[in-house]
Amino acid sequence: MNILRERLAQTFVELCEIDSPSWREKKLSICLQKLYRGEFADAQLAEDSSALATGSDCNNLVVHFPGSAALEPLFFSCHLDTVAPSIGVRVRRDGTRFYSAGDTVLGGDDKAGIAIVIEAMRYIKENSLAHAPVDFVYTTCEEVGLLGAKSLDRSLLRAKMGYALDSTGIDLAVIGAPASSHLTIDITGAAAHAGLHPERGVSAIQLAAQAIAGLTLGRLDHQSTANIGIVQGGKATNIIPENIHIEGEVRSHDPHLLQEHVQTVRRSFEEVVAKWAPAPGAELPDDFRPILDFGVSEEYPLMKLSPQDPVVRRVGAAAEQLGREINFIVAGGGSDANIFNGLGLPTAILGIGMDHVHSTDESIDLNDMVRTCELVISLLTS
Ligand SMILES: [Zn+2]
Repeated sequence: MNILRERLAQTFVELCEIDSPSWREKKLSICLQKLYRGEFADAQLAEDSSALATGSDCNNLVVHFPGSAALEPLFFSCHLDTVAPSIGVRVRRDGTRFYSAGDTVLGGDDKAGIAIVIEAMRYIKENSLAHAPVDFVYTTCEEVGLLGAKSLDRSLLRAKMGYALDSTGIDLAVIGAPASSHLTIDITGAAAHAGLHPERGVSAIQLAAQAIAGLTLGRLDHQSTANIGIVQGGKATNIIPENIHIEGEVRSHDPHLLQEHVQTVRRSFEEVVAKWAPAPGAELPDDFRPILDFGVSEEYPLMKLSPQDPVVRRVGAAAEQLGREINFIVAGGGSDANIFNGLGLPTAILGIGMDHVHSTDESIDLNDMVRTCELVISLLTS
């Protein structure tokens, strides 16, 4: 395949240099809409109304191309947003490798994916290749909790399986990722002057500390992890803290273990609060009890594809057409693909070669983008 490498590079640089932090992806979305309308006569553009739910300044964008009825339709998803710092990105190129100027991320996560699918479609059209019907899905607010994907109007998707172009590594596909539960924990004790009336206070911070000290965190078993990531509380050193707010997460590749581990965390807090007794000499109302509010919400569902799933076999076969082999792996993070899989749309994540993502050292090589572009073309045409 003779991919126009420098055109791909130019598209990539242009996309990277459009600011698109989470919640402010509109400029990029409009640029893509202009590009598709300007270059592709048969592109059908649609937006959902996800901005109402996400708070972004634009909706998710879906670009559909009709294709050959003989080929199973596919979708490719990329997210529009980039992690901070990503305002004023200036791309620096060194040979075939792209970096930022050093003061921002590059934003190849996920603009490399966007540039790749655009170039793949250009190639397919310019070479008049028969291709599968395809939806290109551009989501907002992926980096801040997969918000766009969670609010996606799936009726805009005509394909029933697809690929997210959003992983480090090359020649690899992520076919498993854990489910994650988000924990929100609030403890209410009693405020009092720490020096004048300590008998009237109950420290929410101390209660939380006891509960957290009793937890196992980090890797819990070969499928599960847990973390307490946010602890907020206290107003001044001379006030016994009435409130503490804690947020954490449990992840697991096994839904049953996920439930178990969440319950273990819950019990640790419940026991500490239940065991609380007033200290000798306490001056508290007779009916005083510290209060625990323990909230659990699904951050994202499990992603678990099998080697026999058509979406997995198809990428294996597409790579084989190119004389390549795909390395299938299980990852520890959540992404839009978890949400798509949860919606009943089998989705694998393709490695696109990006490196040191979410840092100002982020980089990507043009050769890897070309390689992924060839794979996308092969997926769409074979
Ligand atoms: Zn990403």
